[in-house]
Amino acid sequence: MAQTKFIKKESLSAWLEELGQDHEVLAPRFEGDSIIFRPYDSEKGFFIDREATAPPKKAIFPQSETLLEYSQIKDMENLSKIAMDVKETIPTTSYVVFGNRPCDARGFTMFDRVYLNGDKVDVYYKARRENTYFITLSCEKGEATCFCNAVGSGPSDPSGSDLLMTPVKDGYYIESISKRGEELLKSSLLTDGSKMKAEAEKYKKAADASMNKAPDFAGSPEKLLAVFDNGAFWEEMSDKCISCGACTYLCPTCYCFNITDEANGLKGTRIRSWDNCMSAQFTSEASGHNPRPAKANRLKNRVGHKFSYYPDLHDGVISCCGCGRCIKSCPVGVDIRQIVLSAIAYKPATKKEA
Ligand code: SF4
Ligand code: SF4
Repeated sequence: MAQTKFIKKESLSAWLEELGQDHEVLAPRFEGDSIIFRPYDSEKGFFIDREATAPPKKAIFPQSETLLEYSQIKDMENLSKIAMDVKETIPTTSYVVFGNRPCDARGFTMFDRVYLNGDKVDVYYKARRENTYFITLSCEKGEATCFCNAVGSGPSDPSGSDLLMTPVKDGYYIESISKRGEELLKSSLLTDGSKMKAEAEKYKKAADASMNKAPDFAGSPEKLLAVFDNGAFWEEMSDKCISCGACTYLCPTCYCFNITDEANGLKGTRIRSWDNCMSAQFTSEASGHNPRPAKANRLKNRVGHKFSYYPDLHDGVISCCGCGRCIKSCPVGVDIRQIVLSAIAYKPATKKEA
């Protein structure tokens, strides 16, 4: 049975300090105009009153990470013979992500189906995933750009979280969601929360009711395939796009990467870094051929992947958690909801009767 606890608002910092003894705690705070997850620093505090500008991907899927280091060892008796010494760098840091929203934690469940897929496991991702805990904060109300309610989620969805915190009078009601989340509840700063359950449930219901009417994405996999070869449709949808990539870099469900080797003589480092399917270079081949030469091709891929190809492969699950960050951050107002709805509503022009 789930454990339920209560913590006073003024005790949160002390709890984070305690958690910091065994884990690296990532908490959101202001940097300039943006709210970014950073290692918790008691002097700088945290800010959890709004969704962070960027999701906390750093913990499990960092922007750049070293996968291995290698060195070539020459046989001086036989110079054509070279041995290779490879040292994998499997990450061991244990992270606690604090104050993320439900859509951020749910985003990693989209990664899991790809990176922890049967016998095709990404060992770096797995190590970080198993070493990262999410203390998620329920949302108070939906913003104009939120549509988690259209993709099988909601403002207090616990999927992917270890603990769920819900604001109540003078503090937070905390529920354990995963068994391992209970490990984080041992602090004496936390008291029995069972009396706050009703108040927390009321808060969650009010948040559900505050959401805008959910756009209906039913049929998106087939409808997007139906317009796959419709160049004019994708030209129109991508007309405003300036290929800046903000939508992919800020997306909690985008998981593409590139691998580069940085060599220094006979030694080198293999690095994985985020890639961006909205960039013209993303599919550029060594021959010079680019199968997605225009932004219309690239936007089609981005939207098609999330609302058609991924659901086709993964039991109908849409690979978007409805956080709305791509809509909020797009400098020219491209709205992924409108693109999917336009594809669903699209009707080919019929020939006029002679
Ligand atoms: S596609 Fe947009 S709304 Fe969906 S998860 Fe990514 S950033 Fe959020
Ligand atoms: S944020 Fe907007 S302009 Fe930038 S790549 Fe994405 S859709 Fe295009």
